[in-house]
Amino acid sequence: MKNKIQTTNPYNNKVLEEYNLHSEKEVANCLEIATNCFNTWKHTAISKRTLLLNTLGDILNENKEKYSRLMTLEMGKPITQSRAEIEKCISLCDFYEANAEEFLADEMIETEAEESFISYDPLGTILAVMPWNYPFWQVLRFAIPTITAGNTALLKHASNVTGCAIAIQELFEKAGYPKGCFQTLLVNHETIESVIAHESVKAVSLTGSEKAGKSIAQTAGKYLKKCVLELGGNNACIILDDADLDKYMDTIVNARMQNTGQSCIAAKRFIVTEGIHNDFVKRFKSKIEALHYDNPINEATTIATLAREDLADDLQRQVDDAISKGAEVIIGNTRNKSYFEATLLTNANQEMAVFKEETFGPVAPIFKVRNLDEALELAGNSKFGLGTMLFSEDIETASKKVIDINDGAFFINELVKSDPRLPFGGTKTSGYGRELSQEGIREFINTKTVYIN
Ligand code: NDP
Repeated sequence: MKNKIQTTNPYNNKVLEEYNLHSEKEVANCLEIATNCFNTWKHTAISKRTLLLNTLGDILNENKEKYSRLMTLEMGKPITQSRAEIEKCISLCDFYEANAEEFLADEMIETEAEESFISYDPLGTILAVMPWNYPFWQVLRFAIPTITAGNTALLKHASNVTGCAIAIQELFEKAGYPKGCFQTLLVNHETIESVIAHESVKAVSLTGSEKAGKSIAQTAGKYLKKCVLELGGNNACIILDDADLDKYMDTIVNARMQNTGQSCIAAKRFIVTEGIHNDFVKRFKSKIEALHYDNPINEATTIATLAREDLADDLQRQVDDAISKGAEVIIGNTRNKSYFEATLLTNANQEMAVFKEETFGPVAPIFKVRNLDEALELAGNSKFGLGTMLFSEDIETASKKVIDINDGAFFINELVKSDPRLPFGGTKTSGYGRELSQEGIREFINTKTVYIN
C-alpha cells in the first residue's frame, strides 16, 4: 500500500509536493482531538461561533492570491476562476454569519404541554470526502454550516489537491477555531472505513463520483451513519425558439465551459428546438473560438487543461463514441495529455455516451428537438437529477413546468449555480441531502423534541 501522496501540476506535469499519509496512530489522535473538541464546541454560544466566520472571511480575503495560486497549480483552474472561488467562499462566511443563529434557534410548537419546542443540536464529528474540482468551495460549503452548527469536521480531500486540504486546516486554525474543529486527514480509501466506523463520527458527506458515492454510502449504511451525497450530474440546457441569444449566449457557454467543464452542475446536454438550432450552433462555435487556452496561471487564460490525464482519456472515449454513432464535430476534439480542446458536437442522440454519462470536461453535445414537450422528455430521460436549465422569453409557460422537472433545481434564463441562500443537491443518482441555506445547516443536526409539562 502506498504511504505517500504526490501532487502534480496538470499543465506541465511537474511534481509540486510529496506528503506522507497519516499513520494509524495519527488518525486515532485526530479522532480523539475531534471528539474532545466537540464536547466544548457544542457548548460555545452560537454568537461566538458566527463571530469566527467573520475572521475566517477576512483571512480568506488576505490570502486570496496564495490560495488561488495553490488551486491553480494543483488542479489547473484558470487563476481568475480560482480568485472567484475564494470570493464565493467569503460570501458563504458572510451568509452564515448573518443567518446561522436564526436557522438554529429553538422553534416553539404549541401543544398541550406547558412548553414544547424543537432544539437543533449538533451531532458530533462529521467526515467529509471531497473532490478536487472546486478545492476550497466544496470543502467550505460543507464545513462552514456544519461547524457553525456546533459539530467538528474531518476532511479527506481528493489526493491531487492535498496542498489545498492542508491550507484549509491552517485557515481554520488561523481564524481562532479551537484545535480539532476542523482537521485534514491524509489517508487512502482503505482507511476511510475505520474513520466512518468510529463512535464519534456521526455522519459523512461526500461530493464526487457515483462510484465513490456508492462505496461511502455502503460503508455508512453498514455502521448506520447518516450520509449526504452530492454526486455527478448531466444537466440539460433547453434552448427554445424564442430564447434571447443576444442576452444569454455568454451565460449558456459559461454553463458548460467554466472550470474547463469540470463541474457537476454544468450544462452537459444542450437540447435545442429546430427553429433556433442553426443560429445557436453558429454562436456557440464563435464563443468557443474566443476562449483563450493557455497556462492557467496567466491572467488572460479562460480555459485550461483538465485536472488529470485520465479525465481527458475518459472524455476522448465519450467523444469517439459520439462520432462513431453519427455526431458531427463543429469545432474541437484535439487532445494532448490532460488538455482537451473545447468541443462542439451536433447531431447528438440518446444512444451516445455523451447523453447517458456525465461528461466532465469542455464538450457540448447538441440534441435537436421539435418542441418544448420533446425537449422536456429528453431532458428528463437521465439517471441523474441535479438540475435543468431552460432559456425562453415565455416565462409563463416555462414556470408551469416546475412540477415536471424531477431534479434538485430548475433555472429559467440562468445557469444552474450554487448560492449560499438557496438549497443545493440532487435527486436520482445525483445523490441525496441538501447543502447550503437553512436546509444545509440542518443536515448534520439532531432535530430534538423538547416537551415540558
Ligand atoms: P472521485 O469520486 O473518485 O473522487 C472524489 C473524492 O472521493 C476524492 O476525495 C477521492 O479520493 C474520494 N474517494 C473516491 N472513492 C473513494 C472510496 N472508495 N473511499 C473513500 N474515498 C473515496 O472522483 P474522480 O476524481 O475520480 O473523478 C471521476 C468522475 O467523478 C468525474 O469525471 C466526474 O464525473 C465525477 N466527479 C464529480 C464531482 C462533483 O462535483 N459531483 C467532483 C469530482 C468528480 P482520492 O482522490 O484519494 O481518490
